[in-house]
Amino acid sequence: MSSGMRPRRPAEHPSRSVGPQKAFRGPEEQRRPHDSWRKDATWHTVARDDRRVCAACGALVRSYQYRFHPPESSMFERCIAFAWCPVCRVYVSHLVHIPREQVLVDALAVLPSEQRARLLRSETRLVAYLDRQARRGSA
Ligand SMILES: [Zn+2]
Repeated sequence: MSSGMRPRRPAEHPSRSVGPQKAFRGPEEQRRPHDSWRKDATWHTVARDDRRVCAACGALVRSYQYRFHPPESSMFERCIAFAWCPVCRVYVSHLVHIPREQVLVDALAVLPSEQRARLLRSETRLVAYLDRQARRGSA
């Protein structure tokens, strides 16, 4: 039945194992998901109707804003905004001013605090997570 599948055996002559071994997995599989994202300040978006699309591929740009400072802070209105292309896996982040009255959706609210903190420490992890959430939401 499974005659075509041979069990993987260790190298027959470990002491003489010279030369590069062929990797079994492609680069796609070896990469962690968030490693495929890159920040690119030169990335451009263009307006199409009342939305923004990626200048490179035409995909609808996704975005997310969150508050970084607690409500009691005078910096509360200074928020961080992300925008990214889900196809090119390029993102930008910058500071934006969002009035105190405007309620922002906290995409990380459902997460345990450790996971939340971990995502906020790494922009690429955060974007990878937000993009996965967006894909789920639009599927
Ligand atoms: Zn794109």
